[in-house]
Amino acid sequence: MPTITNHLPTKELQALDAAHHMHPFTAGGELADKGARIITRANGVYLHDSEGNEILDGMAGLWCVNIGYGRAELADVAAQQMKQLCYYNTFFQTTHVPAIALAQKIAELTPDKLNHIFFASSGSEANDTNIRLVRTYWATKGKPEKKIIISRKNAYHGSSVGSGSLGGMTPMHEQGGLPIPDIIHINQPNWWAEGGDKSPEEFGIAKAKELEEVIMGQGENRIAAFIAEPIQGAGGVIIPPNTYWPEIQRICDKYEILLIADEVICGFGRTGNWFGSQTMGIKPHIMTIAKGLSSGYQPIGGSIVCDEVAEVIGSGEFNHGYTYSGHPVASAVALENIRLLEEENILDHVRKVAAPALKEMWHNLGDHPLVGETTIVGMMASLALTPNKESRAKFAMEAGTAGFTCRERCFANNLIMRHVYDRMVISPPLVITPEEIKEMGKRARSALDECYTILKEHNQLKPAT
Ligand SMILES: *Cc1c(COP(=O)(O)O)cnc(C)c1O
Repeated sequence: MPTITNHLPTKELQALDAAHHMHPFTAGGELADKGARIITRANGVYLHDSEGNEILDGMAGLWCVNIGYGRAELADVAAQQMKQLCYYNTFFQTTHVPAIALAQKIAELTPDKLNHIFFASSGSEANDTNIRLVRTYWATKGKPEKKIIISRKNAYHGSSVGSGSLGGMTPMHEQGGLPIPDIIHINQPNWWAEGGDKSPEEFGIAKAKELEEVIMGQGENRIAAFIAEPIQGAGGVIIPPNTYWPEIQRICDKYEILLIADEVICGFGRTGNWFGSQTMGIKPHIMTIAKGLSSGYQPIGGSIVCDEVAEVIGSGEFNHGYTYSGHPVASAVALENIRLLEEENILDHVRKVAAPALKEMWHNLGDHPLVGETTIVGMMASLALTPNKESRAKFAMEAGTAGFTCRERCFANNLIMRHVYDRMVISPPLVITPEEIKEMGKRARSALDECYTILKEHNQLKPAT
């Protein structure tokens, strides 16, 4: 049995954590002084911490616990699979039933010709696979110079060197020599922050046209693929104007550019369909999946590949793979997660119950003096904090200060809501009930009120000029 347990006093656990555990995307020293919050168990949409608080998880972990916490079925399947076949690889002409069954199931759920899956253990790994897949595809077809991948600023595609390069997060690029060569970032379709005087429709077209401009500038013969999240998640739940995706699709079709939809957040019900591509009307050649695939119960991800790309890649040896590609326990758990999503009609619950209730609650927050736009698709939503709704003004202080204050007040109200600079985002478990959504709205409003009071007291409600 483990020698460190939940029963140690919080302070002791925090001290041990600070002494030995390096946290992702965290200023370690600052956290060590403050002490990390210790989560001890979870059920449904609620987390419990070592101080006895019950916290409503508006983020489903990191956008992943789609089915909600504490499903014993998934634990049982994991235990059973570990006993029967805890591990075997899929490298050397071997396979096993969990990987076969999951691949077949995913092919059944995906649209059109997306019938093949290359497994990984995370979204980052899957996007690294995609870099090699699309470049190998074109090289095999005799066009090795077709290797530039176009992505977007403020996109999130993972944190490995490859996927972090695909992503467009400047603070990540500043550390460790990213991006790798032959990746170009165009602007994001973030109308609220960057739309200026254009209507959302005009802005959507203008941002999509940037893809065409890069293709013309670099030469069509050098562009391998365009990658994007159907809706940017970690960038702040940026929902593109309606005009954006049809224009992107037209451009990809016209110039024969492979389209990679990063479905790591949007996939598995988040937008009300199995995939965000369906919600946004996109026809990708490759989809990246992870997170909701197993509802976070096991680390698993993958690249779903269309027939044509799979055929070309399969014509030679693809020198790529992970020890845990198609891990039997992770595959079995993902399969059970999908079985439950289907058997319990959870997508129906999203479409008919949860998403409409969430939408109402979310838009109601729009009357708050701090809140600019409120936007939502399915079960992912964001709102802009602003000192002036009419002019869509930013704050005069450093970007993210208001957002951080708001997130701290959410924490204090036992609500997990994340901030991306000065946008607040939510992405709750799909199984959330209307009552729980109401409770979430109450806590969010208290947090916004408290945030407003604090900003006012500190004279921080001034718009940037
Ligand atoms: C989280 C995320 C990733 C990275 O997935 P990891 O499992 O953290 O490696 C990639 N793409 C998108 C859109 C994500 O949200």
